[in-house]
Amino acid sequence: MYAEKLQCVKCQATYELIDYYSCSVCGGILDVRYDYERISKKHTVDQIIPSPGMNIWRYRLLLPVSQEEYMTSLQEGGTPLVRSESLAKTIGARDLFIKDETRNPSGAFKDRPMSVGISQALQLKKAAVATASSGNGAASIAMYAAKAKLACYIFIPEATPIGKVAQSVACGAKVIKVKGDYSNSFRLAKQAASECSWMNLTSTFLNPYTVEGDKTVAYELFHQLGRRVPDWVIIPTGAGPLVYGIYKGFAELRGLGITSDVPRMVAVQAEGCKPIVSAYESNRSTVTGWEKVRTIASAIADPLRGYEQDGERVLQVIGESKGAAVAVSDEEVVRAVLLLAQEEGIFVEPAAAVSIAGLDKLIRAGTIQGAAQVVCLVTGHGLKDPTSSVKNTEVPVIGPDIAELRQVL
Ligand SMILES: [Zn+2]
Repeated sequence: MYAEKLQCVKCQATYELIDYYSCSVCGGILDVRYDYERISKKHTVDQIIPSPGMNIWRYRLLLPVSQEEYMTSLQEGGTPLVRSESLAKTIGARDLFIKDETRNPSGAFKDRPMSVGISQALQLKKAAVATASSGNGAASIAMYAAKAKLACYIFIPEATPIGKVAQSVACGAKVIKVKGDYSNSFRLAKQAASECSWMNLTSTFLNPYTVEGDKTVAYELFHQLGRRVPDWVIIPTGAGPLVYGIYKGFAELRGLGITSDVPRMVAVQAEGCKPIVSAYESNRSTVTGWEKVRTIASAIADPLRGYEQDGERVLQVIGESKGAAVAVSDEEVVRAVLLLAQEEGIFVEPAAAVSIAGLDKLIRAGTIQGAAQVVCLVTGHGLKDPTSSVKNTEVPVIGPDIAELRQVL
């Protein structure tokens, strides 16, 4: 066990590794800290970050759960890194890779953070877990809670796509739809979890353990790119723990002397909900909660009202890594969904395609040069929310008649 403590990212106050959700001194975000010196003294690089495969617990030296009996896996991680030829040519990128997180057990990257969160809940002897989610975290926590035999309470916005609701209900979770946008679900889940002593696995930056699961993407990318660090990593962004998690993973590799650099991190949001991009564009280090959410990219539609500091954490990562933040319109999102499907055969939900739409924009703006090595994360499967990008009316219905068929062809 090398995880030592929780530490406030603002005032550096430290706490033991139990269910704390924010710094009691200043309210800041808590982060898991490890004894890296002892890790590098006692283990080889291959022991610390073995080559990728399904089950993120192969990286247990850099995860917060110490006992094997609590490590709950559904074979998450080990997702493919696909080299893009066709799509890359279309958008003018010469060295483009797609990290296909749709290939996780629930169809979304959230299985990484939820595997860690559920395992930590078991280690802390919790009987029940809860989350606020825009849908993917809900589906994932329900699956892992079922596996771990924990009671599970889920708070999701009323408009959550049916695919994600079905996954959660089927796994036996108690699912509650909350009127309004994600920030309302966030607030109610927080209140209920605190009153009922459920472990809150809301994977914004509220739960400090879940982001540790997101780190494992970095370890996999390092191997999949031939033991090197990409120039840019582009990530669909709601509250942004995935941006921070991947950055932290690469920063750890640098700290352990395994690499000498970190990638430039890009957060992509939807025009209709872009609290982080808004701050970035106006050179502010503070984030203002978003008021009117309007986008089909529901999985990243996080207004950050009441927990604006999550967005500020992402801005810090962007600053430290010399990265960028960019927003894309719903039209650009739909185009990216179809491009990815038709050029590469990968079908993703709208929010997942914003990384492709964002890259297209940043290449055209000259921010990213065509020759740079770029990894785009695609975070959720298309079947979770199929009707936002493809309308059923686009498919003709005819009688079993060859003449009618000739007409529609
Ligand atoms: Zn603090």
